[in-house]
Amino acid sequence: MSRRRSTRRRPLLLAVIAALVALLGLGATAVAGEDPKAAPDFRAPFPCGQSWTYSHHSAEVRRALDFVRNDGETAGAPVLASAAGTATRHVEDGGAGNYIVIDHGDGWQTYYFHLDAFSVDDGAQVAQGQQIGTTGATGNVTGAHQHYEQLLNGEGQDITIAGTPLPYPPEYGQESLTSDNGCG
Ligand SMILES: [Zn+2]
Repeated sequence: MSRRRSTRRRPLLLAVIAALVALLGLGATAVAGEDPKAAPDFRAPFPCGQSWTYSHHSAEVRRALDFVRNDGETAGAPVLASAAGTATRHVEDGGAGNYIVIDHGDGWQTYYFHLDAFSVDDGAQVAQGQQIGTTGATGNVTGAHQHYEQLLNGEGQDITIAGTPLPYPPEYGQESLTSDNGCG
């Protein structure tokens, strides 16, 4: 009798404990501010210490920004992962050229267009600050630059770097970004 009672109660007790653990887990997630749509802590897509000016033109796709380097050669400059994720390689002649998409999870992706060369294998896991390619002029471009995008569930978002939304100037030379990506 007592044995039967205990075997009946134990699953209930375990269920209560499981429910409490689940509640505590949700509470901890909420306290940490991990909203499922919270963006990764994106950093500049070029090396530590480099300064690049950027612009957005009206014919541009989505909420992209185009970057050219202020303090050195744009062509051949390393393109860095702005956050960790899974990188895939793509080629679109006459458009994006050679480009990489990094999937960061929770619906977030970053795009890097017009690469001269790829630095990682298709499907590679990449760390923030890891080189994924070199800046080039492949696809539909007038010169070497980095075309960079941040997307949530396939929709271009206003680009935010280190928690700060960037302005969208119509021409180069008005705004610049200095990278702290990969500074250590
Ligand atoms: Zn562009």
